[in-house]
Amino acid sequence: MTENIRSLYGSQLGKAYALTRSPEADPFWAGCREGRLMLPRCSSCNRFHFYPRTFCPHCGSENIEWKQASGNGTVYTFAVVRQPIERAFAELVPYVIGIIELEEGVRMLSHITSIDPEKVACDMLVTVEFKPYSEKTVLPTFRPR
Ligand SMILES: [Zn+2]
Repeated sequence: MTENIRSLYGSQLGKAYALTRSPEADPFWAGCREGRLMLPRCSSCNRFHFYPRTFCPHCGSENIEWKQASGNGTVYTFAVVRQPIERAFAELVPYVIGIIELEEGVRMLSHITSIDPEKVACDMLVTVEFKPYSEKTVLPTFRPR
């Protein structure tokens, strides 16, 4: 098992790269801090969407509710990052960035951790794992299940 991404979380990177937030995503971030993956769902057409918005991208309704997701999904696609884009990322390589297709039908960009990067594959079953990024921010990452 490679825990190659651990140094990203709780390190100086979280201070150097503060995440910008929009108010409509507050329930998502609060859920992450509580270890729950929360997704916006339209109560008019009953479909999930991601990223969080003030209206449903499927039907335009503003009736958005939040539901706890299973946290399970599959790897839709991924890339192994071998070349750091700048110095702050140097200690992280190689690491895996992927798009996870959640059981709820939405896709989410995240890190895939707790696996040798060479063994990551499309359609691999994964589950969410929360990791502290900075004092205020916890990020959802995904690992094999
Ligand atoms: Zn809708």
